[in-house]
Amino acid sequence: MQKILIVDDVPANIKILRELLVGNYQLYVATNGKMAVEVAETRLPDLILMDVMMPEVDGITACGILRSRSQTAGIPVIFITAKSEVDDMVRGFEAGGVDYVTKPFNPSELNARVKTHLELKRTREQLQLRNEQLNDANEKLHVAAMTDPLTELRNRRYMTMKIDEEMARVTRSQRVFSLILVDIDHFKKVNDQYGHECGDQVLKQVSEALRAGIREQDHLARWGGEEFLILLPETDVHGAMLVAERLRENTEETQVVCQKHEIKVTATFGVTEYDQSGNMDNSIREADNALYLGKKRGRNRVTAL
Ligand code: GH3
Ligand code: MG
Ligand code: MG
Repeated sequence: MQKILIVDDVPANIKILRELLVGNYQLYVATNGKMAVEVAETRLPDLILMDVMMPEVDGITACGILRSRSQTAGIPVIFITAKSEVDDMVRGFEAGGVDYVTKPFNPSELNARVKTHLELKRTREQLQLRNEQLNDANEKLHVAAMTDPLTELRNRRYMTMKIDEEMARVTRSQRVFSLILVDIDHFKKVNDQYGHECGDQVLKQVSEALRAGIREQDHLARWGGEEFLILLPETDVHGAMLVAERLRENTEETQVVCQKHEIKVTATFGVTEYDQSGNMDNSIREADNALYLGKKRGRNRVTAL
């Protein structure tokens, strides 16, 4: 049942409204503007029928107060006003009233207006809810599209976007950034020896080791099967080598236990500083070349060209 707050300082007026509305709505009563604000805040009615002329805090002032508070701002207020006050109703609308009826009112007209405004409010709330649900769903889709489901790291699509952004930023500001390409060593053997599930477990734990070793402003993504790419803003190749060395140690120290097997894992790291060419593929190819060199030199190491 929708809730209506009746506000009037004259008991006879309250009685008339009460008799008209009782049974169809849950009713609350206030006898002055101050009390109206209090009841509205605690009961959160769906509609307020507000007398204009009341001692101390009048209906228009009370309506203004309700509008200014986020909790009650959305409650529609219909002013009930004497014929002689109709000219003042501009103030009522300015204060945020949605409608007015004049006393003595026609019962079926009042009923019709009450119904209309309650329905409007309900529709507005439903729309708002649906909008929020849509936004939520959208947000989830957006995050999912950027996330690798196995490791919960960002994916290649996200990283490509970030590198693009970073390239534009350094071009404007004469700054540097570096990339680290990471590839797990002999990962195929892990799958062959312990099974795909253990392989997945290794991927998750290496992801965590990498994530734990970078700063807040760095970006880490699963770039491919057992490859990861890290973007280090404001970092030259020397700084990036230090980070990569720390990550290499973290990876080496990672203890993976899967189906009672203890699995040793290492990775090789290729490092490159962005060459200001504006060509993302160039930089990634450089990192890949450095990585390849590291593999050739025996794996489990950090290499730059
Ligand atoms: P290297 O030291 O030269 O990098 O050897 P490697 O065995 O790691 O390299 P290779 O590229 O030959 O093998 C990569 C393997 O990674 C092959 C593929 O089956 C496996 N792989 C890729 N994605 C996944 C995945 O999501 N889960 C599991 N379990 N394995 C994966
Ligand atoms: Mg590989
Ligand atoms: Mg590999």
